Amino acid sequence: MRPAHAVIDLDALRHNYRLARELGGGQALAIVKADAYGHGAVQCAQALANDVDGFGVACIEEALELRDAGIGNPILLLEGFFDADELPLIERHDLQFAVSADWQLDALERYAPGRPLGVWVKMDSGMHRLGFSPEEFQRAWTRLQGKPWVQAPLVAMTHFARSDELDSSRTGQQIAMFDATCASLHVEAVSMANSAGILGWPDSRRNIVRPGLMLYGANPFPAAQPQASRLRPVMSLRSQIIAVRDLAAGEPIGYGGGFITDAPTRVGLVAMGYADGYPQYAPEGTPVSVDEQRSRIIGRVSMDMLTVDLTHLPQAALGSAVELWGNEVSIDDVARHSHNSAYRLLTGLKRAPRSYLAPLT
Ligand SMILES: *Cc1c(COP(=O)(O)O)cnc(C)c1O
Repeated sequence: MRPAHAVIDLDALRHNYRLARELGGGQALAIVKADAYGHGAVQCAQALANDVDGFGVACIEEALELRDAGIGNPILLLEGFFDADELPLIERHDLQFAVSADWQLDALERYAPGRPLGVWVKMDSGMHRLGFSPEEFQRAWTRLQGKPWVQAPLVAMTHFARSDELDSSRTGQQIAMFDATCASLHVEAVSMANSAGILGWPDSRRNIVRPGLMLYGANPFPAAQPQASRLRPVMSLRSQIIAVRDLAAGEPIGYGGGFITDAPTRVGLVAMGYADGYPQYAPEGTPVSVDEQRSRIIGRVSMDMLTVDLTHLPQAALGSAVELWGNEVSIDDVARHSHNSAYRLLTGLKRAPRSYLAPLT
C-alpha cells in the first residue's frame, strides 16, 4: 500500500477544544466546516460530542452529514440558508442558522416555522462580507425579537477581518462598532471570536466563541504567540522514503531541473505529492522530518512524489518514516515556507487516507 497517510489525533483535538472553551470563558462552538478543515467532520464531531456546546458548519449539506451520522448536538449554519427551500430541513433537523439579509427574514416570516429555532443575527462590523450593516442589524433584530418561532436567546454575532494581526486597530474598531450597535437593543447572547480572537483578543471572548483553526492545533498568527503555543497539532501528515539515490555535484533533480546539487548529495524520494494536498510550490528548504530528524525539500514537488535531502542522515533508508507536517514539523512553518496558510494546507488534504488515534473518550 502506498505509505502516504494522515494520522488524526483526537485527544489533541479534545485538548484544543477545552483550551478554546477555557479561554473563551463561556460556550464554544466547534467549527467543523470543510470536513473539519480536512480532518473528517464526522469523526471529529463524534470525538467532541460528549463535551461540546455545539458545532458550526458552512451549509446544510455539512449539517446533514453530521445528523446522518447520529450527531445530536446543536449545529449552526454559519452562513445561514442559501435558499428558502432549505427551511423544512432546517426545522426537521433542528438546525440553528445565521441570518444576514432581508430576503432571509422575508422567507422566514413566509414559512413561519412550527417550532422555535435558534437564530443568530449577523452584523457586518467592518469585514464587509456577509452581515447586516449596523442600521439594518437593529431593524432585523427588532423584527425577529418576540417571534414565536425564534428560540431564546437570539444571538448577535459578528466576524473579524484582521484578528490575526495583533497590532492592527481594526479588531478594536469592529468590537466597538458591534457593542455600540447592540447597546440600544436587548441583547443577551453575543458571539464574536474566531480562533485569533479567542487566543489574542480577550475583549472579544463574550458568551459564545467560535474556534476553527485552533481546534486543529495550528497557529492563526504569523508569529509564535503564548496561548497558541499551548495547542497540540491534530494532523500528522506522513509517508515513507521509497527510494534513495546518490548524486554527484552538478546534477539536477526533478521537473524543470531548477535544483542542482552543489555537492555530492544523497536524495530520498518520498511518496507524497501535490495531489495529496502537499503544496506544489514548497521551495527548496521547506522542512520535513525523516526518522524524527530535520531535513528539507530539494527539487520541485511532483504530483505523487517529492525529494528530500538525506546527505546528513546516513541512517535514513528505504522505509524510513517521513513527517511532512505534524508534531515534528509545524504546519505553520510549512505554510510560511510555501506562501500558504495552515487553513489552506489542512483543507487541501486529498487522496492520502486518514486514520484516527484515540477515537473514544
Ligand atoms: C470559519 C469561521 C470561524 C472559525 O474561524 P477560525 O479562524 O478558523 O477560527 C468562525 N466564525 C465564522 C463565521 C466562520 O465562518
